[in-house]
Amino acid sequence: MSDSRRSDHSVRDLLRELFPDTHRELFGDEAAPSAAPTLGLYPVADGRLALVHGDQLAEFTPLDPRGRNALHCDLCHFTRSRSEAGVYRVRVGARRTRYVTLCLNTPACQKRAGAHGLQNLAERIFPVEPSFIDDH
Ligand SMILES: [Zn+2]
Repeated sequence: MSDSRRSDHSVRDLLRELFPDTHRELFGDEAAPSAAPTLGLYPVADGRLALVHGDQLAEFTPLDPRGRNALHCDLCHFTRSRSEAGVYRVRVGARRTRYVTLCLNTPACQKRAGAHGLQNLAERIFPVEPSFIDDH
């Protein structure tokens, strides 16, 4: 079973190399990052971050750090000291709040995580009920 899956995969890879148009027709544009919707984490005012995915937006509000344990970044999955990462609150609905740990160096963190890491983070956060985006 694993053998047939492996050969399917290599046929697909071969197809992508030799006949990219056919590959796109059969499997869509998943391999072309330029076709993906906007996805990124951007610093905004007051140390907050905005996660943008297509037309969706979530706002990350920094919390006062507590304790002295190392932090595990939810985006790039590196372990960080207290001075290198922060905990953020994301309000996604009336009674739904998510807590996310992120490196303070957002550009470097995103670079380590890549598009795939950002996609995983976005899937944890979205959808956000629009009226519950923090605006204070
Ligand atoms: Zn990180």
